[in-house]
Amino acid sequence: MIPNTNYGNLKQSYLFYNIAQKTKAYLEANPDKRLYRMGIGDVSLPLAGAVIKALHEAVDDQAQKGTFHGYMPECGDESLRQTIADYYGKRGVTLSSEEVFVSSGASDELGDILDLFGKDKTVMIMEPAYPAYVDANIMTGNHIIHVASGKENGFLPMPDESQKADVIYICSPNNPTGAVFSRSQLQQWVDYANKIDAVILFDAAYEVFIEQEELPHTIFELPGARTCAVEICSLSKTAGFTGTRCGYTVIPKELERGGMNLNAMWVRNRTTKTNGVSYIIQKGAAAVFTDEGQRQIHSNIDIYKNNAKVLMEALDKLGIWYTGGKNAPYIWMKCPNGMGSWEFFDYLLEKIQVVGTPGEGFGKCGEGYFRFSTFGSPEDTKEAAKRLVELLG
Ligand code: PLP
Repeated sequence: MIPNTNYGNLKQSYLFYNIAQKTKAYLEANPDKRLYRMGIGDVSLPLAGAVIKALHEAVDDQAQKGTFHGYMPECGDESLRQTIADYYGKRGVTLSSEEVFVSSGASDELGDILDLFGKDKTVMIMEPAYPAYVDANIMTGNHIIHVASGKENGFLPMPDESQKADVIYICSPNNPTGAVFSRSQLQQWVDYANKIDAVILFDAAYEVFIEQEELPHTIFELPGARTCAVEICSLSKTAGFTGTRCGYTVIPKELERGGMNLNAMWVRNRTTKTNGVSYIIQKGAAAVFTDEGQRQIHSNIDIYKNNAKVLMEALDKLGIWYTGGKNAPYIWMKCPNGMGSWEFFDYLLEKIQVVGTPGEGFGKCGEGYFRFSTFGSPEDTKEAAKRLVELLG
């Protein structure tokens, strides 16, 4: 038996392993020092009170015969699907509950959704990119077109009509760059996808961080998106669900390719490959969308946004070029003095004990850039910003 040989094409991911090794070695050699960790993309604040209350109530429901729930509907609880559709409604986007699929998170969906497209497809991935896009497609054996971006286009590449793809990944607000496509830029991608018959996988994991009114939170705000896009979203960063696990995927009923309906195919897929997200978690997720839940998650997001402000002020003071921060929880900065990503990583670790993520880990064009996450504690962020200014000022 020969297993999936595509796995042999995966590159070893040294990024987070190397960071862990380097920080461990530094702490062993300098036991009196502490680190200011601005590298991780995980949240640091606990779940909102409304979510915790709903989770407790759901646990109690499971203890009684009258309120106990067994298997949940594979595509999600009907009332949660409707609640999420209503959330889109607030942005002027009309969805039916049948177009919303409750998931266990965006990572799961970003991998699983490739089932819809079959083998040997060409996928376009804008880089620097969230590493799972590349790896999931290597595992599937798809051909990848790496679309490089850089400072010259603000890390927001535009379609090249001479290139053709079956699937196009767009992440906006972007991880790692924090850059966000404007309405007119995203419209060009939608028009291009419709023209070349491609499907856009739109990763909206960071939509809630958008501050500027004119920027699109969902691809479905744009005309034409219903015939070319799938949107994948997550409560991980929106509501601190990284360890609780819940997200949602939107597939419009109009989305068809080759005479096949992708919404109907996904229903078939989910009813075959999952038995739904747990009752308890879906109850907790529903609480995120209540008025109280929204108030509470936004007060957590404000704390992360303030971290971003503190870091942006430091970089502005230093005259360092960066993207992100304003509409995203990541800041993507140019390493000063022509330093490479890892060189800058070592320099910050040695000199000021600040840990970030080298841009090179997100694709070749990330070399010479560095990512700061704003999900850390306000105290550590303030200290890190102060140390940055002292070191580089
Ligand atoms: N998409 C992007 C762009 C992310 O940065 C992340 C997590 O960091 C995910 C998806 C995964 O989210 P989830 O926790 O829902 O799997």
